[in-house]
Amino acid sequence: MSSSHVLVLNCGSSSLKFAIIDINSGAEALSGLAERLAEQAPLIKYKYNGAKHNIDLSAGDAHQVAIEKLVELVKQLKLDTHLIAVGHRVVHGGEHFTKSVLINDNVIDAIKQTSALAPLHNPANLLGIEAAKKAFSHLLQVAVFDTAFHQTMDKQAFLYAIPHALYTEHGVRRYGFHGTSHYYVSTQAHKILALPENNSRIISAHLGNGCSVTAIKNGQSVDTSMGLTPLEGLVMGTRSGDVDPGLFSFLVNQLNYSAQNVDELLNKQSGLLGISELSNDCRTIEEAAAEGHAQATLALDIFCYRLAKQIAAFIVPLGGLDALIFTGGIGENSDVIRAKVVSMLEFMGLSIDNDKNLAARFGNQGIITSQNTPCAIVIPTNEEWVIASDAATIAQEQ
Ligand code: ADP
Repeated sequence: MSSSHVLVLNCGSSSLKFAIIDINSGAEALSGLAERLAEQAPLIKYKYNGAKHNIDLSAGDAHQVAIEKLVELVKQLKLDTHLIAVGHRVVHGGEHFTKSVLINDNVIDAIKQTSALAPLHNPANLLGIEAAKKAFSHLLQVAVFDTAFHQTMDKQAFLYAIPHALYTEHGVRRYGFHGTSHYYVSTQAHKILALPENNSRIISAHLGNGCSVTAIKNGQSVDTSMGLTPLEGLVMGTRSGDVDPGLFSFLVNQLNYSAQNVDELLNKQSGLLGISELSNDCRTIEEAAAEGHAQATLALDIFCYRLAKQIAAFIVPLGGLDALIFTGGIGENSDVIRAKVVSMLEFMGLSIDNDKNLAARFGNQGIITSQNTPCAIVIPTNEEWVIASDAATIAQEQ
């Protein structure tokens, strides 16, 4: 095995996803998830050589312990000698970061400053960075930001119509997220469909637990559905997406909600879960809808209608469409949602091909419309690959 591996870390508030990726082949030498960190029964699950294993942690163990155990495991499997860098997913890079960067003290300070905009995510990402710096002090660490790809958006797309000082003094603007995924699938689409990089109009729909759509013109993000936080835009698993901001004062003044209650309601109790009163999981909702569950059907209808409406709106910045990409757990697997959404977009020249739509599931990519131009296409995302490849490139430049 050559020294061409990158450890990719994606640190959430109570979880840590990791993978060791060979940047020559893209193969994952190791992958796994530490979950329930700092809770009762934390656990590391990992996959190595096709087999699944668990490591139990002690109650209360958090990121530092999980990373120490991961280091032990990496050493025991003799994967450490092949590592050339550690790549970290960082959710919010604010306006500081337009691309991936080598982590140094200034970068850490900038990520800390941006924490006010992503209080749940950035502090967790920083925990991962600090723990990895300690554990792999000999390796270069690179930060890859969810927001960076969208830094090409124009002011007309990223400013809210609120007093301008909130932007200049406090950074209140639309940033957009899922940038690594939108970047990856749009790059793949250029290759697969032989689209010229300087003349292409792509809309990419990343549909997972969080959902966002991005308008990509000539390879650059020109607009996206998420905003200051990942709450804006589409209906998601537990997030409401767009609501009338007047809802806040209604909940506070009429129903005595606190700011925290409003936040909780819109982020954790809304979306597919809120409408269906059943689940945030798309599979469960689809199964229930197929059995006649009225609210599950309604949840799917609202999800698809709002998604189709957002996709159609992005024809404005693009001036037309070459390809609509579906990705993320729902986008890659739900033929039902794709067929519904594409049927609402027939006026844009898209018509679903049922056989192709069924074939493009469970990791299989492919065009799902009868025509190739414009087309709807399923492309499985690979954010870990982008993080590994950026980290390797930056480490090799040093
Ligand atoms: P995350 O955003 O956490 O990375 P994923 O991209 O894995 O999440 O997406 C999770 C979503 O994908 C869930 O709503 C899940 O139900 C949905 N999903 C996964 N497989 C299917 C499937 N076969 N049919 C419909 N939805 C699916």
